[in-house]
Amino acid sequence: MLHNKQRDPAEWIAKAMGQFESSGIRKVFDLARKLKDPVNLSIGQPDFPVPEIIRHAAVKAIDSGHNSYTVTQGLPELREGILAKVRENLPPTACEDRSILITSGTTGALVLTLTCVLDPGDEVIGFDPWFVMYPNLTGLSGAKFIAVDTAPTFVPDPNRVRSLITPKTKVMILNTPANPTGAMWPLEVTQALAEMCLEKGILLISDEIYSMFSYDGPFISPAQFNPQTLVIDGFSKSHAMTGWRVGYAHGPSRLVEEMIKLQQFTFVCAPSMAQHGALAALNVDMSTEVASYKERRDFIRRELAHDYDIGQPGGAFYLYVRAPHGRNGTDFVAEAINRNLLIIPGKVFSHHDTHFRISYAATMKTIERGVEILKAMAKA
Ligand code: PMP
Repeated sequence: MLHNKQRDPAEWIAKAMGQFESSGIRKVFDLARKLKDPVNLSIGQPDFPVPEIIRHAAVKAIDSGHNSYTVTQGLPELREGILAKVRENLPPTACEDRSILITSGTTGALVLTLTCVLDPGDEVIGFDPWFVMYPNLTGLSGAKFIAVDTAPTFVPDPNRVRSLITPKTKVMILNTPANPTGAMWPLEVTQALAEMCLEKGILLISDEIYSMFSYDGPFISPAQFNPQTLVIDGFSKSHAMTGWRVGYAHGPSRLVEEMIKLQQFTFVCAPSMAQHGALAALNVDMSTEVASYKERRDFIRRELAHDYDIGQPGGAFYLYVRAPHGRNGTDFVAEAINRNLLIIPGKVFSHHDTHFRISYAATMKTIERGVEILKAMAKA
């Protein structure tokens, strides 16, 4: 009960917050906590442990007193180490004007980028299905998220993208390999979009957090074709460091300079000990883990191909599957949860309610149990 003089705290909340829906993913996680021994294929984080060398580097950093702020833009040796790898993969023209900033997760990089570039009324081109943060963070700056439909292949049609560009379009966000579809776009599509941004003066943001999980061919960054691409990336998925909060952004130095300024007044810096861990991560080979995720993808695809429309997921650790028999995704997921299987309804990432997302960042035993439930559901 509120006293007459008390104001309803809801009235203090900014209008911009109205567009945030409490994430549908969170709802599934809450349900997960209530179920006994659920078959959990909903979580988008690797199930392998953080490699020992990385853990030791972070512990050593704490024990030897690296517990204060680092410089805003991140440890110089970490920045230099990442940039050296970037230079190996990009042509020299793409590196002429390229600076880097270490952020609090890839999320930190995304928040800083969008806040630094978007004004109210600007338009951001993204793709449906989208990663949940893109429309929400766009809206927080008062800008508009324009979602280009990519169903049923989940690869965008560049002509369709071109037709949605307006004088207000300021940013395009690419994410391949993608969350939630696992789609790895053909090189010519990435190239066409990268060149389109260059031609139209649109800032291209490439979210490359899943680049290491590219199973059917090498990952090629759109920065190959557009030197002004702002790349965001991090250690959460590649080294199972989701809780460490280390990511980074590299791109045109004038932009990065502005992001450093904003970081100074928001996040201050990425966690110091986690940055020391990330430095050690640069020399850790993760190919065994990646190979094991590829095997898991192949296993589920083989097992479900007969009953489900799975498409061509070339990367990340997600499958985006059509609910069978023309059912809608939300109902299908509700039934799956009744059968103790946790998956995410596609509606969380899309205007369509036709699909569901499976994460195969889980043990083989969990995956096998999930596959059995899905097979039974297809027959029901
Ligand atoms: N981008 C994409 C596409 C993601 O899937 C995620 C994590 N789910 C992030 C960014 C954020 O990752 P983090 O902040 O943990 O680095």
